[in-house]
Amino acid sequence: MKDTTEKKTDFDLLAHRVLSGGTITRGEAAAVLRSDDDELLAVLQAAFRVRVRHFGRRVRLHVIENAKSGMCSENCRYCGQSADASGVPVYPLKSVDEILADAHEASQAGAYRYCIVTSGRAPSTAELARLCEALRRIRAELPIHTCASLGLLTAAQAHELKNAGLDRYNHNLETSARFFPTTCTAHTYADRLATTRVVKEAGLELCSGGLFGMGETVDDRVALAFALKEAGSDAVPVNFLNPRPTTVLAEQPRLKPAECLRILAMLRLVLPDREVRVAGGREVCLGAMQPLALFAADSIFTRGYLTTPGQGIAQDRTMITEAGFILAGIDH
Ligand code: SF4
Repeated sequence: MKDTTEKKTDFDLLAHRVLSGGTITRGEAAAVLRSDDDELLAVLQAAFRVRVRHFGRRVRLHVIENAKSGMCSENCRYCGQSADASGVPVYPLKSVDEILADAHEASQAGAYRYCIVTSGRAPSTAELARLCEALRRIRAELPIHTCASLGLLTAAQAHELKNAGLDRYNHNLETSARFFPTTCTAHTYADRLATTRVVKEAGLELCSGGLFGMGETVDDRVALAFALKEAGSDAVPVNFLNPRPTTVLAEQPRLKPAECLRILAMLRLVLPDREVRVAGGREVCLGAMQPLALFAADSIFTRGYLTTPGQGIAQDRTMITEAGFILAGIDH
């Protein structure tokens, strides 16, 4: 039986402290995650107050797409593109014109940012040269911001991308340092942190977030939030595991909607002025509660998640406006 004398966390007070320039502790972040369903609206209200301060009711749409797919040498257990999985389209790096056409389509659909993704541990010299050429053309020809997610980077590669006009680089920490070795052994958490550092040092914005629902604990989730804060992540994509049938995590149960919402709220309170983006697994894990995610998050991926489809851009737009939020244009 639950101890009813247990002291409840005052989420309103947490929001007030964050809005006054203070921070929440790891213990308080854990309390957000451990709160019960009766407290869900109080948790979301606290996150919403902070969200509104920094982002108003604005929602930005991001489109993410593979420029190279499958047959990755790495063994990330959750990923359908790893060498250990199968069943996803496999193709080498697209041509500059093909990447440009994809970005054009995203721009036409009203996306604020286009993220070019390549499977693999790290880009080769030839791949990077082609990607830089595509980025130069996108910058010159399209009204859209850019992001790239190409795996581990050296400092020289980060500078090359910056010089080609890239705005932002994505490299997720995914989970805590403690839990990471159970998700991947082909590279280390230190490798990932090193890439986040070279991205920041090159003057690129850092997009780094995680994947929740792989069997990690509440403390792992809190540790990830604080690691992202320490790494200076400017944008935090929040993925909820949608177990892929050919991966090792195929049998992992999906997170419940309320659990997803508590994770988003916790991240908003730990990283008050950073973009928090609902990413993969949004539709399948949040279900009918999807619109509530916008009370903590300020952006979403639309049109799918590399190897899994989304509900579609028309439905995303309707969801945003019907929930009382405002679709941001390219200048907002
Ligand atoms: S490095 Fe990227 S593409 Fe390769 S298995 Fe890991 S997550 Fe998938």
